[in-house]
Amino acid sequence: MSSIGTLLDRRRLRGMAEQAMALAREIFPLPRSITGDGVRATLRRVAELIPIETVEVPTGTPVLDWEVPLEWNYSEAYVLDPQGRRCIDVANHGLHLVGYSAPFNGRISLDELQTHLHSIPSMPDAIPYRTSYYRESWGFCVTDSVRRALPPGEYEVVIKSRLTNGSLSYAEMLARGTLEREVLLSTHTCHPTLANDNCAGIAVLSVIARELSRLPLRLSYRIVFAPGTIGAITWLARNRDNVSRVQGGLVLGLLGDRGPLTYKRSRRGDSETDRIAAGIVKRLDERARVVPFSPYGYDERQYCSPGFDLPVGRLTRSPEGGYPEYHTSADALELLDLDAIEQSIEAVIRFLEALDGNVHLTSAAPFGEPRLGKRGLFRETGGRSPSEFEHASLWVLNQADGKHGVTDIAEASGLSAELLESASRALVSAGLVQGEGQ
Ligand code: ZN
Repeated sequence: MSSIGTLLDRRRLRGMAEQAMALAREIFPLPRSITGDGVRATLRRVAELIPIETVEVPTGTPVLDWEVPLEWNYSEAYVLDPQGRRCIDVANHGLHLVGYSAPFNGRISLDELQTHLHSIPSMPDAIPYRTSYYRESWGFCVTDSVRRALPPGEYEVVIKSRLTNGSLSYAEMLARGTLEREVLLSTHTCHPTLANDNCAGIAVLSVIARELSRLPLRLSYRIVFAPGTIGAITWLARNRDNVSRVQGGLVLGLLGDRGPLTYKRSRRGDSETDRIAAGIVKRLDERARVVPFSPYGYDERQYCSPGFDLPVGRLTRSPEGGYPEYHTSADALELLDLDAIEQSIEAVIRFLEALDGNVHLTSAAPFGEPRLGKRGLFRETGGRSPSEFEHASLWVLNQADGKHGVTDIAEASGLSAELLESASRALVSAGLVQGEGQ
């Protein structure tokens, strides 16, 4: 068994879930965006738990087809109504200010203010989450009930924000195993004051990385915390030559709500990661969904873009846009469920255990099936369907192309891992198959 399996003890899983919940609560209020001090503060907190290294990439750095944007920070942002009362104030909720709002200070009419406000009429008590990363503007997000109650008159708007030549911050860690091949685990870090998306992902990845950093491992594990889209693009630009080491992996996020586990396949659709992850979510959660790849969502879009096309899928509970509270102030800490977090952690650990234990097999007798009968591995008389053991031997021999191991052969064949294990041992003894590093 892979050392990762030792984490599957129930009490240990519960402890990890409790740590993740506590971390999510702690980082929830930080003013994250795709750049700035809120992300740095988040990464500093994570760095107290795990040995991550934060990388700062300067504004203007070309990254693939993009460039690192100006860094954004703010100190204050509020609106005074005609009576001089603060009717909107980012100090009360981090979602009130549109992300990347340019500085502004002025007196404007209600009509003009309305053109800078965002609300959700169908959810009158929720504040929406809005950003304007690549078009300079400013705005506020409010509940629709507050917006409707604003009296006519003159409003004073104060936004003390800065868009400066700074840097984009991401962090990574490598838990080194005996093999150089890597498993990539990545989560986005750019949403302010939203619990499930994305404090839950940051927290779950942090507690799992903490355990990985202490275990003897076969594969190596690359952990990446980066702002969505531009962060993954930046990481890929700086690791273009290294990503061929990625054997599999998961984009993680939205792991704390009560929705069913949802595995989204990689662009390849049937990679080792896809076979293993799809099987695990179905076994863990009877409501689980396995969905095909699509080019929207989170950073699987970048990892699975042509050229990279990494065998990296995505694990969430409810997917993006798949729960009513998504990208609103209703995605608050109350939405996080300890049992759901625990099950999400278990799913990731079971996936890692399977991948780490999935020793790739290579046939020593490729080009046609080897004759098993002369090696005592097959019945001499043909004519009826092969016995289970022979069946398993045929599966192992056929899949022994250096890219498959017992775990994913089990997923492909429907045969038990134990049976395939014993067939592969017999084939190794007969010199027909070699295990990686054996
Ligand atoms: Zn999001």
